[in-house]
Amino acid sequence: MNIHGYAAYAAKDTLRPLEYAPAEIGDYDVRVKISHCGICHTDLHLIDDDWGINNFPMMPGHEIVGIVEAAGAKSTRVVGQRVGVGWQRGSCGTCEYCLRGDTQFCAAMKYTCIGNHGGFADAIVIDGRFTFPIPDALSSETAAPLLCAGITVYSPLVRHGVSKGTRVGVIGIGGLGHLALQFARVLGAHVTAFSTSADKAAEAQSFGAEQFVSTGNADALGALQGTLDVVLSTVAADIHWSAYVALLRPRGVLCSVGVPPGNINVHAGALIANSRSISGSIIGSPKEMNDMLALAAKHGISAKTETVPIAQVNQALDKVRANGARYRMVLST
Ligand code: NAP
Repeated sequence: MNIHGYAAYAAKDTLRPLEYAPAEIGDYDVRVKISHCGICHTDLHLIDDDWGINNFPMMPGHEIVGIVEAAGAKSTRVVGQRVGVGWQRGSCGTCEYCLRGDTQFCAAMKYTCIGNHGGFADAIVIDGRFTFPIPDALSSETAAPLLCAGITVYSPLVRHGVSKGTRVGVIGIGGLGHLALQFARVLGAHVTAFSTSADKAAEAQSFGAEQFVSTGNADALGALQGTLDVVLSTVAADIHWSAYVALLRPRGVLCSVGVPPGNINVHAGALIANSRSISGSIIGSPKEMNDMLALAAKHGISAKTETVPIAQVNQALDKVRANGARYRMVLST
């Protein structure tokens, strides 16, 4: 059965309908009937061809939740099961990283919507080993953004040892950032939100921020120098990196999960003086994905979403582009 969705036919194009015949369902594959797909800022990077890595036509979408409607002979997924799909759709399965469970570092990593059509569609055929059961406590609409935004912030928070009493800063309170506030709070951190949008203060506090810093105020960062252990940047823009490094306590880390267009320019002395570091992080491992979903279900962590029918995909993309989403646009089919 053909799959119907929306695709960009050229860089920066408006999305238009696309119908395609999926590959045969292999032994480990499943066909998922998609009910919801979040719009990640990465989808905008891909539509705009910011990284020059995708072919057109390109169907975005990698925050997918749906129901398994067919499963290959060797798949452990069953028809009728509710699953999610994130950024990764496959890996080699034999390299050192795959064997230790860090499939996100596999050099042969396959992406859900690069070189394959993604989740802005009514269905997807995908390796069932890269699908994740969605806990009953989570609604499909609010769980969909966890499959990319959620895992992308959860993984570095845990890896950098965020726990009771850790002082965490989150830069950018968008799709990733509003989930980072929730996960950091549940992990026990004291959380500070850094935002260009002063009108997000009250909601940032409801997500778990004890402090809200409006970055439009030039003096605001200076007052917090040397106070934070982990600062997570979720912005896709160039920011004043040195000013954020200066917020770190000794051995503190600034981790960027957002993909700014330019370089992260910081003087080495600012890192050396207090043994600070800068890091990056890509999604997370399958184990971290299951742990993250379980933690979200246990503590009621979910994306704050605005859901629109998939036919309104272009209006929804425009809203994300204009930083108007509060806090994740989700497409329903
Ligand atoms: P988003 O929903 O658009 O949120 C980004 C936030 O950045 C905005 O809500 C805004 O927050 C802030 N912002 C916007 N323009 C800014 C500017 N000019 N200066 C400073 N801050 C600005 O995007 P997202 O879906 O969270 O994705 C964010 C980034 O993460 C993207 O680059 C995406 O590609 C990347 N990403 C990476 C991974 C990974 O594996 N590393 C996974 C998913 C996404 P305020 O209004 O609060 O300022």
